[in-house]
Amino acid sequence: MVKKGESAEIAKLKEIIADSKKIVFFGGAGVSTESGIPDFRSKDGLYNQHDVKFDDYSPEYLLSDNCLFDEPKVFFEYYRQKLDARNCEPNAAHKKLAEWEREGKLLGIITQNIDGLHQKAGSKKVAELHGTTQKCHCVACGAEYDGNYIFEHERAVPRCEKCNDMVRPEVVLYGEELPREAWDQAQKWIAEADCLIVSGTSLAVYPAAVLPRMFDGKYIVIINRDPTDYDGRADLVIHDSVGKVLSQV
Ligand code: ZN
Repeated sequence: MVKKGESAEIAKLKEIIADSKKIVFFGGAGVSTESGIPDFRSKDGLYNQHDVKFDDYSPEYLLSDNCLFDEPKVFFEYYRQKLDARNCEPNAAHKKLAEWEREGKLLGIITQNIDGLHQKAGSKKVAELHGTTQKCHCVACGAEYDGNYIFEHERAVPRCEKCNDMVRPEVVLYGEELPREAWDQAQKWIAEADCLIVSGTSLAVYPAAVLPRMFDGKYIVIINRDPTDYDGRADLVIHDSVGKVLSQV
């Protein structure tokens, strides 16, 4: 039933949520932009601290394994300026998903974001397909550090306290494989889910394009500002901000 002041889309979403016990949320960059996370592909706002001329490089190269190992100074300069999300806060979408997890309605969150905002909102069941900026480790001895280590390290290229080799973020770079564990977890949740909510991704690129096809549960819901390749197959499509939509259910 549509309440006064409520759109038919929100009413339908409420019905679907009420009828679902195993919700899986699959989110892309759009979920984080509402928390003020900038698009890492844009070079706006970069400042030159260590004589790095960012204009000479493509964003894909700057976040690639080639750049990390061949030109680490350039990599870390870009990384520190573009991927520091420590001052960003979870938005209404992150908070609602954490609430559903506490209520036992949500199987898990599959995310392409690396900012750790779901965990900051209180979510524990999160499969991070592209890794996270919240952890890092030594490329030689494997010693683990928290996400602050790289951002606060005094040297241009952060060094391991134990062996003095390079410390890198646990982020999946261009040219690297997706983490096996997160990918397996994502597939498992999708196979078990009765409702899949997809948001903040155009679903155009692998692996995002593959995951919804593995779902054969009851409802697929797409909440995205722009149309996606999957809109025609969804039970409900809402073209709006995910924070705004989820704060109403
Ligand atoms: Zn080490």
